[in-house]
Amino acid sequence: MFDFKVIAESETSRARAGILQTTHGLVETPVFMPVGTRGSVKSVSPEELLAADARIILGNTYHLYLRPGCDVISRFAGLHQFMHWDGPILTDSGGFQVFSLAKLAKVSEEGVIFQSHLDGSSHLLTPGKVIDIQNCLGADIIMCLDDCIQYPATREDSLAALEITTKWAQRCKQAWQETNNGRNALFGIVQGGMFKDLRERSAEELMKIDFPGYAVGGLSVGEPAEVMLDMADYTLPNLPETKPRYIMGVGTPENLIELVALGADMFDCVLPTRNARNGQMFTQYGTVNISNARYKDDTEPLEPGCECYSCRHYSRAYLRHLYMARELLAYRLNTIHNIHHFISFMKQIREAIVADEFESFRKNFYRKLEN
Ligand SMILES: [Zn+2]
Repeated sequence: MFDFKVIAESETSRARAGILQTTHGLVETPVFMPVGTRGSVKSVSPEELLAADARIILGNTYHLYLRPGCDVISRFAGLHQFMHWDGPILTDSGGFQVFSLAKLAKVSEEGVIFQSHLDGSSHLLTPGKVIDIQNCLGADIIMCLDDCIQYPATREDSLAALEITTKWAQRCKQAWQETNNGRNALFGIVQGGMFKDLRERSAEELMKIDFPGYAVGGLSVGEPAEVMLDMADYTLPNLPETKPRYIMGVGTPENLIELVALGADMFDCVLPTRNARNGQMFTQYGTVNISNARYKDDTEPLEPGCECYSCRHYSRAYLRHLYMARELLAYRLNTIHNIHHFISFMKQIREAIVADEFESFRKNFYRKLEN
């Protein structure tokens, strides 16, 4: 059920447009995937995601394993039915959350032992268990367990994490092959810290194991944007051209367009949803803070011309009022706009690649931001 085809390539950059086939439908790439960590894209319903033209969303293994747990979700035959989302789902393995949220994470070759951030209970995640959990969640694309390190990290620590990540990737692949019913695809995750040769080595080792797709992890962890782009620039050409390439956890619209130019196909980030809840709205002319007093009696929509539900029906003054009054509707309307913005931005990028007008699109994008 899983397939990826590149249908157009930019003449002037590594940007490409493709089609990803999954069990729950087709996804046109490059694609932005809204984050539904705990089985919900915060404050919006699946119908609202569809209206924003979201095609694939993320769930998180670490969070869903701890709460509500696989015993609950398996009663619904998986996350799709449980959360009433019939489109493709990608689940992150939880590696990143173990290292960022859990207490006392201890890594060994066997796996990672950690204490739940919810109740302090002790858990062991192994490569095999991570595949079992993701099979239970029923995601279309599942991820290997990886060893995420903090930034900055020494070369020694980055190398150790890379080596563990490769070993876990081998065991994940084996566990996946033993349990795979053809309904999901397993992606490997490139690590290697901020060291180019380690990134290259990680990519090579994963390619030997051979995955249906590849992700670049450990980016956007506190490093400057130039370093993030530099690492992606170096890593992406080392991954097979015929497979989808996913940059995890990035980023701003400026990051996204540059990463597309470097040959990335898939993205996820909490930025549009989290920032919506903080009143920061994304528009083609840059970000807008809806709490700003200048919008107090502004009768215009947030972004004139935007076709999202929020912009079609509400004014900046109303959105500001809701936000200032901490009305719950503020979170929903703001999130609807931001998700719509990120998704339509990626669709425009894709159209530009297909028309081989990516460079002029990119120039125009920056020109509008400067205004
Ligand atoms: Zn809008």
